[in-house]
This record gives sequence, C-alpha cells and structure tokens, in this order.
Amino acid sequence: MKVGAPKEVRPGEARVALTPESAQHIQKLGHECLIEAGAGVAAGFDDAAYRKAGVEVVEGAEALWQAADVVIKVREPTEDEAGWLRNDQTLISFFWPAQNEAMLERCKASGATVVAMDMVPRISRAQKMDVLSSTANIAGYRAVIEAGNQFGRFFTGQVTAAGKVPPAKVLVVGAGVAGLAAIGTATSLGAVVRAFDVRPEVAEQIESMGAEFLFLDFDESQDGAESGGYAKPSSPEFREKQLALFREQAAEVDIVITTALIPGKPAPKLWLEDMVQAMKPGSVIIDLAAEKGGNCDLTVPDQRIVTDNGVVVVGYTDFPSRMATQASLLYATNIRHMLTDLTPDKDGVLQHDMEDDVIRGTTVTHQGEITFPPPPPKVK
Ligand code: NAD
Repeated sequence: MKVGAPKEVRPGEARVALTPESAQHIQKLGHECLIEAGAGVAAGFDDAAYRKAGVEVVEGAEALWQAADVVIKVREPTEDEAGWLRNDQTLISFFWPAQNEAMLERCKASGATVVAMDMVPRISRAQKMDVLSSTANIAGYRAVIEAGNQFGRFFTGQVTAAGKVPPAKVLVVGAGVAGLAAIGTATSLGAVVRAFDVRPEVAEQIESMGAEFLFLDFDESQDGAESGGYAKPSSPEFREKQLALFREQAAEVDIVITTALIPGKPAPKLWLEDMVQAMKPGSVIIDLAAEKGGNCDLTVPDQRIVTDNGVVVVGYTDFPSRMATQASLLYATNIRHMLTDLTPDKDGVLQHDMEDDVIRGTTVTHQGEITFPPPPPKVK
C-alpha cells in the first residue's frame, strides 16, 4: 500500500510523521512511501534525503492525500484534510477523540479508518508506539533547556577565580514521564533538584535520578494514586498541606517546572500567585501543563510573561515542535511500529485486527462506525 505523509498545516507545527529512516523500515513491510514536497524541511529532512531513502516526493497536499492509501500525520486532521478522506483510506495521527467529537463524526461519515496515536494503551507491549511518552519525554527535556535559556545564571555550582557560584535550585512538580525527564536533565546540568508528586511510588525513581523527593507529612499518607499509574484529584486537606510545602519552597528555589496533570480534568492549580510573588527576581517557572489551563495561576498559554517582581513565567505548549528533528525521529518510529503491527505478514497489506488490544484501543472510526471509547485492554 502507499503510505504518505503530508506537510503539517497547523500553525507553528514543525514536526513530520515520516523520516527518511522510518521510510526504510516501512518499505520493508512491503509498502511504498510518499511525502509531500517540503514536508520534512522544518524538521531538518529535505526532499533529497527522502528521495535517497526511496520515498516518492509528491507536489501539494491534495495530490498526496489522493495518492495515499494510508495517511500518516502528526496533528489531528483539519476540516480541509478531513474533506479529502475516503472510505478506502486509513489515517494514523494524534486525534484526541474525547475532545474532538465533531471531527470523529466527520471521519465516520467518510468511511475511513482512523487510528488515534494518543489512544495507544499503556501496556508493556505497546511502549514502542507510546507517543504520549515520547512527546512528554521531549517536553520535559526541552522545559529545562528553556529554563536555562531564561535563567541568568549557571545550573551547576562553580568555584572560580572570579568567585563562588551556587548551584541553581530546581523544583519539579509532578514526576510522570515529562517530570522525570526534566529531573534527569536538570540533575545532569548540575542543579540541585527536588521533586514532588502525589503518587508515593515515584519517590524511588526521583531519588535514583539524584533528586530529592519532597515528602509530605500527612496522616492519610501521600497517596494520590489512581489505577493505571495516573493521579486522582487531591482531598482539600491534602491540597492545603501541599500548598504549604510549596510556599516554603517558593522563596528558595530558582526554577520551577510544573507538569502535574489528572486525566480528563483541567490541570490542578498548584503554584499560586503569592508563591510567584515570594520568588526571587530572575527566577523562572516553566508550566508544562499550560495547554490544560496551567499549574501556575499566572501562566498564559503560548506566552512568556515577566511578573512585576521579575519572575519569568513560560506557558509554551509546543515544546516537542521546538525540537522538531528529535520529536519527528521518535514520533516516526512510534508510527512505523504501529504500521508493523498493522502489517503482520509484511506483504504491504494492512490487516485491521480488532481483536488486538493495541489496534482496537487506538481505532476510533472503522467501517463507517465510531469505535471510541474502546473496551479496556485484555492484557496488562
Ligand atoms: P500525567 O501526564 O498524567 O501526569 C503527570 C504527573 O502529575 C503524574 O505523575 C501525576 O501523578 C502528577 N500529579 C497529578 N496531580 C498532582 C498534584 N496535585 N501534585 C503533584 N503531582 C501531581 O502522567 P504521565 O506522564 O502520563 O504518567 C502517568 C503514569 O503512567 C505513570 O505512572 C507512568 O509511569 C505510567 N506510564 C506507563 C507506561 C506504560 O506502561 N507503557 C507508559 C508511560 C507512562
């Protein structure tokens, strides 16, 4: 079949779903690969690199969508793109079906099969396709690089002829995939790192990365864990204790990276205005929860603001796109693993096995039906 990647059309999106490297793997599955001319340029892959990898370069988005049997993309389809979908096509991309009901209806009406990469179940076998983890990892890393860019001092402590420099103190709130990546990056730059999470089981992971786990002395124990490793909303009493802990930290830390999320809910507000006011001038807050409303009271999504007391608050929501080459390499690898599972006989023919947990879990429209939400996976 012909697997084609169009150029991303959402403003500011620099990633691409096919790389010259992933194309070679996809061709080994018996497929042909197509790319829209210029689709990889913003991520560092020019048309010549694709041609060298055996990919056909197609001029124009509509021509690409017409030529492809399987369209692979990063972002959910736009209205125009959905208008080109056919019933004999498969679309594989981020989709966020719970938030995009109208688009789900549109795709159902087209008769196309849509595979939502953000729906990959978090079971061991599917880790190689887990785009949420690969993008969160990049966001966590890039958040620290952004903090370093905004911060006027070293991360690492130094003793120099010109004076002694203390290490930067970094607080990471939320130690899921993005938070752990941020902890690893900040410790490797030499900062003193501390972290907090409502799930007590992450303490060991935080400590194994050379950071300090901020323990909350609370009668009901620090237990905000829900099933599947996700967090649940905290009780009011727990929240008050947590805010008191953060108030103690606010005057001391130089950089705060917030990543706290609760599935299906707005981001919890954890870094309040008075905490920002208590921070030293030149301190930096990077709010990775900005897209879900932000963990910090003062976050403005997609903006960098400077408060009256000189604290920089960054609410960018496009950190993976700001590292478009790396993000595309990982995303394209996740996609080609999905195609591997969809092409079990390596004969260039997609087999849409709805008995398979991963394929079933990610398929949101199929044969003119909406197949979202899926049943829970049978295997852990
Ligand atoms: P997430 O993005 O949903 O949330 C980020 C973090 O915020 C979580 O660690 C959460 O506990 C924390 N949080 C929520 N409320 C908070 C609060 N009030 N204060 C402080 N922290 C708060 O998380 P994620 O990165 O998607 O990871 C969630 C879980 O999924 C983890 O346990 C992770 O290990 C697991 N996971 C499993 C797989 C797999 O098995 N394939 C893959 C990826 C992640």
